[in-house]
Amino acid sequence: MNSIQYPTHEKIIEVVDKLQNEAIEKLKQMVSFDSLLGNEKDVQLYVEEVFKSLDLKVDRFEIDLEKIKNLPGFSPVNWSYKGKENVIGIHEPKPNQHASKPENERKSLIFNGHVDVVPTGRDSLWTQNPFSPYVKDGRLYGRGSGDMKAGIIAFIIAYKAIKELGFAPAAKVLLQTVVEEECTGNGTLACLERGYRADAAIIPEPFPEIITAQVGLVWCKVNVRGRPAHTLEMSKGINAIDGAMHVVSELRKLEVEWNTVKHDAFSHKFTHPLNFNLGMISGGEWTSSVPCECSFDLRAGFYPGTPLESVRKIIIDTVDRAAKEKELPYTIEWNGFQAEGCIHSASGDMMKQLGTTYKSALGTEAKYTPVLCTTDSRFFELYYNIPATCLGPESNSIHGIDESVSLESLRDITRVLACFISDWCGLQPLH
Ligand SMILES: [Zn+2]
Repeated sequence: MNSIQYPTHEKIIEVVDKLQNEAIEKLKQMVSFDSLLGNEKDVQLYVEEVFKSLDLKVDRFEIDLEKIKNLPGFSPVNWSYKGKENVIGIHEPKPNQHASKPENERKSLIFNGHVDVVPTGRDSLWTQNPFSPYVKDGRLYGRGSGDMKAGIIAFIIAYKAIKELGFAPAAKVLLQTVVEEECTGNGTLACLERGYRADAAIIPEPFPEIITAQVGLVWCKVNVRGRPAHTLEMSKGINAIDGAMHVVSELRKLEVEWNTVKHDAFSHKFTHPLNFNLGMISGGEWTSSVPCECSFDLRAGFYPGTPLESVRKIIIDTVDRAAKEKELPYTIEWNGFQAEGCIHSASGDMMKQLGTTYKSALGTEAKYTPVLCTTDSRFFELYYNIPATCLGPESNSIHGIDESVSLESLRDITRVLACFISDWCGLQPLH
């Protein structure tokens, strides 16, 4: 006879709210690590300690390129993975114990978040140092606050709240913090390769609406070579920078063309879903010399369902045609994101439950949205048949200046995630 009183959403929320000061302190700690690409180690060690303090079994492991490089979804890089570590906090339920759900209804869950952050831009444009977090008017400021350290704090505090109530999830729960979401997704791919699976995955990226679709995107570096000459006989040279600008303008025409095509998952919300970003450029050696070389890095979005190979082929053909018009030799390298687009069906069990839990926890209907970027949720959904989505705290100026996250939204998302653990996994007494 099961006479245990399992906590209601109300009770769970009460404890989540009591933990908010701790959430803010921990978020400040997280944001103070400048976990730019290649510098994620210290924040991962911090997370490991937090996971241990929650009595989670911890697996901290280095990404093994050999093991992932032939897997679907892999993105090639030109740097080493030495010292690049993911951290996983593992909760295993106790067998043969009473729980709030019958055994066949207890479902396992992955919470996943990335610790890497993007460069800050010019630090002097920030009100304060981007890695000296501060709170103002209900928002916490700093690089990575919204994208996505607040999301990681949300699932840590959600898990902690359940424990504070004297309970634990009645199914396996994996708390994952990964590297390299911002350039490849290979961190999450490495977790999946290592065998970590569950019945659903939630990534609290900074989207306060549940995501239903994400675009695909590729990164490429185009290098255009010209012929150097003194500017007094400029006609003898071929200007690589002018040439690169011509190639870029042809790529811009391709962007316009792609956006004339409508896609059901995006077109109701966005008039220009597919963005081409010229993210970096370098070239030339001397103001009075015709430059012999120019490189630029392009990020190009495309719709789900379009194979990567065909996206790359169209881009190559466009560059090839434009470069030939100006008689310019060129190379194209495909490093970083080679990410397919993904639909997250709103009608699956996990999505329905998340919507129901959201409404019960916050008293308002959840909203749903497609997003014009990629997230690691694609790996779960596309290659491992694990329903996945993103739902996280509302943020401002991610990838921009004075990035911030709403602390009220952090609390709300933590409420939802904690209640979701109860609804999805079921609960069992800690002792
Ligand atoms: Zn992110």
